[in-house]
Amino acid sequence: MSKYHSLRGMPDIPPEEAKLFRWVEDRAREVFGLFEFSEIRTPLLEETEVFKRSIGEDTDIVGKEMYSFPDRGGKDISLRPEGTASVVRAYIEHGWHTGPDILKLFYMGPMFRGERPQKGRLRQFHQIGAEIMGSSGPYLDAELILSLVSVLESLKVKGYEISLNSLGCVSDRVSYRTALKDFLLEEKADLCDDCGRRVETNVLRVLDCKRAGCGSVLKNAPRIADYLCARCAKEHNDLVSILGGMQVDFSRNDYMVRGLDYYTGTVFEVVHPALGAQNAVAAGGRYDDLTKQMGGPDVGAAGYSIGVERILLAVGKEAVPCVRPGVLIVAVDDLSRDEAFRLTNGFRAEGISCDMDHSGRSLKGGLRRANKEKRRNVILLGEDEVKKGRILLKDMKSGEQRSLSFEEAVRALKEVEEI
Ligand SMILES: [Zn+2]
Ligand SMILES: [Zn+2]
Repeated sequence: MSKYHSLRGMPDIPPEEAKLFRWVEDRAREVFGLFEFSEIRTPLLEETEVFKRSIGEDTDIVGKEMYSFPDRGGKDISLRPEGTASVVRAYIEHGWHTGPDILKLFYMGPMFRGERPQKGRLRQFHQIGAEIMGSSGPYLDAELILSLVSVLESLKVKGYEISLNSLGCVSDRVSYRTALKDFLLEEKADLCDDCGRRVETNVLRVLDCKRAGCGSVLKNAPRIADYLCARCAKEHNDLVSILGGMQVDFSRNDYMVRGLDYYTGTVFEVVHPALGAQNAVAAGGRYDDLTKQMGGPDVGAAGYSIGVERILLAVGKEAVPCVRPGVLIVAVDDLSRDEAFRLTNGFRAEGISCDMDHSGRSLKGGLRRANKEKRRNVILLGEDEVKKGRILLKDMKSGEQRSLSFEEAVRALKEVEEI
């Protein structure tokens, strides 16, 4: 029994799983390269105020899920619960709005939320996100969604569904909020306690409620689509037709508002049957007012994030290419050990991945290990080989053994790797 355990909801990512994480991150990097997004790495800790201002005080995230504590100087700081707030903070702090009109950024890394751990919901989880700062108009929304679709396609995720909605501009939401509030006040008796409170404090949050009672009330609620001004309605329709033209499959969901306060205009999410409809594997939208609200310039922006643990539940494991381990070098007697060690590092210097069998087992033991690890090639080294300056290369598949010089072995192994 181990005395220490990792914290609940903050599991280790063991090597086999880390490989999958790496694979997802690599695919995303490739796509971001094609779309010309640049990477940004922001700190894990920020002033709590950064998240309060951006995500919103009455959201679940800020209200009850953040890891917040005073630092040694008494300043209230928090582990980042998501990535956008920090990106916007950095954008303003460094005055990047004075650079190119459009700045495309991506990030990847751990986020922290004190939720009740369950499938696809951890306290330390990982996100891959993209933001287009200075963006406006349906083409940039479409580009953002297309980059997300490209990541999903390159991960060979099947059966995902994209839903799309528009939250309109500030004045659209004011009239929609009023209509929604009037409607919900009539139905208040059937709402849960949280929603009863939200009707007064932040009525749009009621649309996010997962409780069945609230869900059935919401079936007859007014739809935001009916409250969009002409300009917002046109932008939304333009986006719908651009995406249609690009053969992107999506559906419109009038009640999707996402759990963060900063969204404006277009919002979207991706769900997958592996996680059920309640948990999005990716989500995002426009946040045109956020930069200004955080004390920066008045620039439009949009972004999304992908939950890495969640997307891994949706990825068919057969989609992940298996990386075969390299050559195993086995010294068949103690006298050859020194030479085997030198050779191992010689192969590495030639760019050939390899490992030496340090167990000191017999030849048989070395071959058994190579089989178990599904290695294609083994190099056997005994007193005889060392004397002659030769190497015995064994092909585990055909069983064939060849006596080669070091240079010949390097060439042979590089050929095998190319097949
Ligand atoms: Zn509008
Ligand atoms: Zn509710």
